[in-house]
Amino acid sequence: MRANCWTGRNSVDVQEVPDPTILNDRDAIVRITSTAICGSDLHLYDGYIPTMEKGDILGHEFMGEVVELGSGVGNLAVGDRVVVPFPIACGACNACVAGLYSVCENTNPNAGMAENLFGHAPAGIFGYSHMLGGYPGGQAEYARVPFADVGPIKIENDGLADETVLFLSDIFPTGYMGAEMCDIKPGDVVAVWGAGPVGQFAIASAYLLGAEKVIAIDRFDYRLAMAAEHSGAQTINYEEVDVPDALLEMTAGRGPDACIDAVGMEAHSDLGPLQVYDRAKQAARLETDRGPALRQAIMSCKNGGTVSVIGVYGGFMDKFPVGSWMNRSITMRTGQCHVQRYTRPLLDRIERGEIDPSFVVTHRLPLDQAPRGYETFKNKEDNCVKVVLSP
Ligand code: NAD
Ligand code: ZN
Ligand code: ZN
Repeated sequence: MRANCWTGRNSVDVQEVPDPTILNDRDAIVRITSTAICGSDLHLYDGYIPTMEKGDILGHEFMGEVVELGSGVGNLAVGDRVVVPFPIACGACNACVAGLYSVCENTNPNAGMAENLFGHAPAGIFGYSHMLGGYPGGQAEYARVPFADVGPIKIENDGLADETVLFLSDIFPTGYMGAEMCDIKPGDVVAVWGAGPVGQFAIASAYLLGAEKVIAIDRFDYRLAMAAEHSGAQTINYEEVDVPDALLEMTAGRGPDACIDAVGMEAHSDLGPLQVYDRAKQAARLETDRGPALRQAIMSCKNGGTVSVIGVYGGFMDKFPVGSWMNRSITMRTGQCHVQRYTRPLLDRIERGEIDPSFVVTHRLPLDQAPRGYETFKNKEDNCVKVVLSP
């Protein structure tokens, strides 16, 4: 089959690789009909997440048709149309029973690698480095889906296009979880750093969960315009105005009730010396994660507010404002999304017409053009927000 493989820093290549086969009773083989490129793929592409190997198949946002099933999967049939959550979860361990699927205790065969960096190991994730399981990803014609009786959600309504349900695999639940972690109450103002695909769903979800006002922060006007036009967000272009000042002005001097970081470890800023410091330390591998967005989210949040972190961080960040966090009673919540928890309720919201997640799609390419898709998405060219690939 054809698959998009990581071939080194800033390089991917669509190659001929062996077809996946059933290895365990609870596996399914899915013929992929649509798959997408995520901001998390960029961290792998850019070389910031360790333990990638040349030839690894990328991709963790995918859907398709079940073509083969292990004998232990009783809830799916060959021919079913399914969306597959990005974390691989067994459904039965302590973490899964608590709904914490992205830290499943049974799906990361390389737990030792992750323990070295994180203390404890999170779950395995499709196409997301050896430290996170070494599973082949879904930017391919076929994928093996372990624990297929737990993760995939069946799409029974043929009237729903792939693009409308595909993002149940990751970015819609992720944005939703980012907003849910804010415990939004009537009247709340929520500020969201990053108006990429994940930020767009955090913004839309904050409104779905009752926020009075959502403020989107980015430097790309076309992304801010999407947040304003689609979700009704107010916007701040951080290259044009001072973000902390603008937020104070928009919140009667208190700061937002909740701040969502939908940026992550490759944050950019024009903050002069601190940005130079972060880039230099990251380049020298002395610091793995750049902190301008998270630092600003913490410093801007109102006293007693919540900072919800859905942007991905990989290792260590300098100049973490621990004093601001501690002295001002800020709650911080975070996680790789526990996607399995959200697929059913969010599919219901789609079916009820509350949201059509396809609004983020700006680019559709055949799988063979994945290298172009990565470059366009990474460099924010051609007003790119989200790239969908068709195998
Ligand atoms: P993206 O690269 O398209 O979007 C990131 C946005 O952040 C860009 O628009 C960029 O301009 C903006 N940005 C950069 N620096 C900023 C700053 N200092 N202030 C404000 N905005 C800034 O990526 P995406 O697909 O939207 O993903 C966003 C993050 O979410 C990534 O870190 C990704 O890894 C992460 N993610 C997390 C989960 C999860 O489960 N927690 C799931 C999916 C993606
Ligand atoms: Zn993702
Ligand atoms: Zn589990």
